[in-house]
Amino acid sequence: MLSFGNLIGGQWIPAEDARANVNPSDTNDIIGHYASADASAVDAAVAAARDAFEAWSQTSPQVRHDLLDAVGTSILARKEEIGRLLAREEGKTLPEAIGETTRAGQVFKFFAGEALRIAGDAQASTRPDIDVEVIREPVGVVGLITPWNFPIAIPAWKIAPALAYGNCAVLKPADLTPGCAHVIAEALHEAGCPSGVFNLVMGRGSVVGEAIVTHDGIDAVSFTGSAATGARIAETCGRLRKKVQTEMGGKNPMVVLDDADLDIAVPACLNGAYFSTGQRCTASSRLIVQSGIHDAFVERLSREMQALKVGDALDAGTQIGPVVDERQLASNLDYVAIARSEAAEVIGGDRIDGPAPGFFQAPALFLGTDNGMRINREEIFGPCASVIRVTNAEEALAVANDTEFGLSAGICTSSLKHARTFRRRVEAGMVMVNLPTAGVDYHVPFGGRKGSSYGAREQGRYAVEFYTTVKTSYISA
Ligand code: NAP
Repeated sequence: MLSFGNLIGGQWIPAEDARANVNPSDTNDIIGHYASADASAVDAAVAAARDAFEAWSQTSPQVRHDLLDAVGTSILARKEEIGRLLAREEGKTLPEAIGETTRAGQVFKFFAGEALRIAGDAQASTRPDIDVEVIREPVGVVGLITPWNFPIAIPAWKIAPALAYGNCAVLKPADLTPGCAHVIAEALHEAGCPSGVFNLVMGRGSVVGEAIVTHDGIDAVSFTGSAATGARIAETCGRLRKKVQTEMGGKNPMVVLDDADLDIAVPACLNGAYFSTGQRCTASSRLIVQSGIHDAFVERLSREMQALKVGDALDAGTQIGPVVDERQLASNLDYVAIARSEAAEVIGGDRIDGPAPGFFQAPALFLGTDNGMRINREEIFGPCASVIRVTNAEEALAVANDTEFGLSAGICTSSLKHARTFRRRVEAGMVMVNLPTAGVDYHVPFGGRKGSSYGAREQGRYAVEFYTTVKTSYISA
C-alpha cells in the first residue's frame, strides 16, 4: 500500500492523520493513505514558497526550461504505470488514463519551451529620448486548487506555466485523487526543483483550500472545480484583491441537424456524453436534435449506448469505468429519478453490478425532454444525456445558448453555412464542428464563458496572461 505525504519546502512530510484512497472499481482495493493536512501546513508551504520566490523569479529561463522538460520526460517515460494509478484512483479506463498522463507530460514540455519565449514589448514614447518597454513579471506565489476528474492533466496545466514564468506554487489537489498529484510532486522533486518553488498540500477543501484562498502570502488563485465553489472563491479573491481564475462546470450542447452524417454524429455524441463516465466539464449533456433526423439518431444512439461495456477501469475492453465515488453515484441516481418524473422516457441509468463491489452505473439517455427541465439546466456530471427535439437550426442555436454555462458547444452538420453561423453565434469558449464537445488539444486555450469560467484563459500561450503581470517602464538616460 502506498503512502502519500506532502511536499513542503523541499521536504516530504509523512501522511499523518492519513485518509484512505479507494479504488472506485473495487472498494476492497485501498490504493494508499494520504496526508490530510490542516491550515498550519498551508502556512508552512506559503512561507517556503515566499522564501524561494526571489531566487526562482530571477533564475534564467534556461533553468526553468530544463526543469520542466525533465518533468515532462519523466512523466512520459512512466505513462503506463502512472496511467494505471490514475485509472485505479479515478476510474477512467486505462487507455483514457494513459492518454491523460501523456497530455500532462506534453504540457510540461510545452511550457518548458514557453519559459524561453517569454517576451516583452518595446513601444514608442510620445516624448523624445525615452524608451518605453512593457515587460512581464511573475505574479508571485500562486495557489492552485484542482478537481478529481483530470487528476494529472489539470494540475500539470497549472503548475507548468506557473513555474515557467517564474512563480512559486502551492497545490491542493482533490481529496479523491491524491496519488496523481503526488506523482507530479515526485517528478518535480527528483528533477531538482529548488526547495519551496513547488509545494504539495493535501487535505480537505474546506480546510486546506480555504486556507490557501484566504492566505495573505498567496498572490493569485487558479481554481478548477464546481460552479458553487468557484463562485465563492472568486468572490473571496475579489474582496482580498487577489488575481483569480476559476474554471467551472458546463451543460454543453451538441446540435445534430437534419443534414448531419449519422456515422459522425452518433460516435461524437457517444464519446461526448458517456466516455470518461460523463465526468468531464466538456461532456455533451444536451443533445439538441432536429426533427427530420431525430428518430433515426435516437434509435442508433440508444442502441449503441446500451452496448457500451461498463466495468473495471483496468479491464481490457471496458468502455465506461465506474463513477468516482458513492456520493457522485447517489447524485447521478437522483437525477435519473428526476428525469423519470420530467422526461417522456428514460433508457438505462440504473446502478449495476460490476466484477467487484464498486460504483457502476448504466449510461442513461433521457428522451422527450425540453430545455426548461432540471435535467437540462443543472450539471449532472455522470453518464447521462438528454435529447431535446427542435424544428430548425435557428431554434437549435437558441436552445444551445439558453443556459447559464458556456464552456464547449458542438454541431454536427454537412452544411458549411450552418457550421459557420453556429461557430459565430454560440455562447461558448470552445466550439466543435463534427467532433465531440469533449476532447481538446493541450497547447491551445481552454476555457469558457458565462457561468463556466472567470478570468484569464488556461493552457497554451494564453496562460501567460494569468501567470504574469505587466509592468510598463519608461527609461531616459
Ligand atoms: P469541487 O467540489 O468544487 O472541488 C474542486 C477543488 O476545490 C477540490 O480540490 C476541492 O477539495 C476544493 N474545494 C472544495 N471546497 C473548497 C473551498 N471551500 N475552498 C477552496 N477549495 C475548495 O469540484 P470537483 O467535484 O472536484 O470537480 C468536479 C467539477 O469540476 C465539475 O463541476 C466539473 O465541471 C468541474 N471541472 C471544470 C473544468 C474546467 O476546466 N472548466 C475541468 C474539470 C472539472 P476537496 O476535493 O477536498 O473537496
